[in-house]
Amino acid sequence: MKKGLLVVLSGPSGVGKGTVLKEFIHDASLNLTYSISMTTREKRAGEEEGVNYFYVSRDRFKEAIKNDELLEYAEFVGNYYGTPAAYVEKLRNEGKNVLLEIEVQGCTQVREKCKDALTIFIVPPSMEELERRIRGRNSEPEEVVQQRLAKASKELEAVGNYKYVVCNDDPLLASQIISLIIKRHME
Ligand code: 5GP
Repeated sequence: MKKGLLVVLSGPSGVGKGTVLKEFIHDASLNLTYSISMTTREKRAGEEEGVNYFYVSRDRFKEAIKNDELLEYAEFVGNYYGTPAAYVEKLRNEGKNVLLEIEVQGCTQVREKCKDALTIFIVPPSMEELERRIRGRNSEPEEVVQQRLAKASKELEAVGNYKYVVCNDDPLLASQIISLIIKRHME
């Protein structure tokens, strides 16, 4: 059986990765499974344990690093985020394509471990639009918004490390482009 693809989706905070992802993740022809990350950040309103993330303590996260349980991990605006390795490997060995929605440092680690990872970066139509989207989420204090904006500018510099770059002006169109990219690599 052909091993499943490892698809890495990144993009600055607020670019609308989640919205784009929702449009294609359940498309059966893509045979995709979303990898649920482990994080130390607080659960946001509307999020669910084991659906959006596995919410863990910093001690548990450090233990996962020590035990080499993570395919990659990174600290992002004061919290840790990481991808449990065993689950990803199991799915890929079953022939399923796995989607990681992770930030740029994590993608660098994945690329080192998995040379054939299919890496896709989502960019905003403009910085003004990105700021509007980050503020529109309306769930975080100004200090965190500022941190996320500064981080977003920095993250955009990593665009050249990705195989494909997709602009999220229209989420449906962006998702259709990503579907086409994945299908092309499934051939
Ligand atoms: P948020 O707090 O908005 O859910 O996520 C913050 C950032 O962490 C996003 O850019 C998201 O893609 C990234 N992220 C989520 N899970 C992981 C992970 O497992 N590893 C890494 N490296 N980044 C992650």
